[in-house]
Amino acid sequence: MQSYDTIIIGARCAGSPTGMLLARKGHRVLIVDRATFPSDVVSTHVVHPLGAASLARWGLLDRLIATGCPPMHTYAFDFGPFTLAGAPGTTESPVGYCPRRTILDKLLVDAAIEAGAEVREGFTVEEVVFDDGQVVGVRGHSKGGKTVDERARIVIGADGRHSVVAEAVQAPRYYEKPPLLAAYYSYWSGLPMDGRFETFVRPNRGGAAVETHGGLTIVIAGWPYAEFDTNKRDVESNYHKVLDLVPAFAARLQAAKRETQFFGAALPNFFRKPFGPGWALVGDAGYNKDPITAQGITDAFRDAERLTMALDETFTGARPFEAAMAGYQRARDEHVLPMYQFTCQLATLAPPPLEMQQLFGAIHGNQTAMDGFVRMNAGTISPAQFLSPENVRRIMEGAQIAG
Ligand SMILES: Cc1cc2nc3c(=O)[nH]c(=O)nc-3n(C[C@H](O)[C@H](O)[C@H](O)COP(=O)(O)OP(=O)(O)OC[C@H]3O[C@@H](n4cnc5c(N)ncnc54)[C@H](O)[C@@H]3O)c2cc1C
Repeated sequence: MQSYDTIIIGARCAGSPTGMLLARKGHRVLIVDRATFPSDVVSTHVVHPLGAASLARWGLLDRLIATGCPPMHTYAFDFGPFTLAGAPGTTESPVGYCPRRTILDKLLVDAAIEAGAEVREGFTVEEVVFDDGQVVGVRGHSKGGKTVDERARIVIGADGRHSVVAEAVQAPRYYEKPPLLAAYYSYWSGLPMDGRFETFVRPNRGGAAVETHGGLTIVIAGWPYAEFDTNKRDVESNYHKVLDLVPAFAARLQAAKRETQFFGAALPNFFRKPFGPGWALVGDAGYNKDPITAQGITDAFRDAERLTMALDETFTGARPFEAAMAGYQRARDEHVLPMYQFTCQLATLAPPPLEMQQLFGAIHGNQTAMDGFVRMNAGTISPAQFLSPENVRRIMEGAQIAG
């Protein structure tokens, strides 16, 4: 007996939108999460313009804006000798946002419920249930409740990088890379950003500042993972040593007040095959990468749409599960692979090779090229497009003419 078309484990950026979109198409959806909402996670929370575009398509962007989330109209990359600053978005979706996860995730859960999904908060999945090699449901319990089984045609792991679904089905991993960067952040008051998302790049060091809800700004600092063990003994002074490399920013920070402890993470990088008999993966469960390019939420939104399309085709009989889901995997991988490679390279914090430094120099002062550079970092355009030989040649020739 299948009570649901799908059970989704995880109700945050990947799970709730997937549940909402499937429920809007009339499918029977149960979403479970051991967390209750609103609640926080260790994550900064930049949503790039294409992520905001997803929210707009779903009719949720106005709700986010109504919470007082400040827009980011400019991304600025300070390399020391110069800064590349530009507009991150498109004409239709010009700005990004940095909503607190307490606000964003709750908004997504509410939208899923509104669409007709059943949501069980405080429900922990203990194990995935199999029948003859096929995933058929989950076994779990509500807080203080007894263990129950629930059945569905497809169980979706939207349960983050330590996915219980991926673990149970032994989802194959590929393009794996170890953690490359150790990053720490905290929230500061008295540090207005005026719509700018600022990133600082120095040899083997990186930092960023971005404004979120409630007049708070997240300030991030990071170093190569090789220094993780040594530096974790004194996060605060190592954090400030990074930001002191940018004296103008350090002065602004001195006038501000740190409002929280430090939160830190060092993430492994991998893809997982996102489907098999009776199961699927979406969000970090299927594709996890270093947060340096802040793509996770935007990727989760896009993949929620793609997975919904594939499962809708399956549930309506338009396409067999294997074919629809192979299309989902292919589309995901083709879309994100250039950004994955770019992200992993950036996360080493190694000084860019000479050719790249020359390119950065040529981009500086050319507003079209700076917008392109910023859009590449935001994921609005692919690194494959921005760093294509024709585009690089155009930028270098433009610099020669200008010089
Ligand atoms: C330090 C750091 C900074 C980041 N900064 C950014 C950024 O600025 N922008 C950006 O886009 N991304 C950022 N990311 C990445 C982003 O946080 C993730 O990509 C995003 O949260 C993925 O969403 P998700 O829904 O796939 O998984 P998650 O947000 O991890 O949600 C998984 C959910 O599954 C639930 N769950 C797990 N197991 C079970 C179980 N057994 N039973 C019931 N429930 C379960 C959990 O309770 C959780 O609520 C950052 C990550 C880190 C660590």
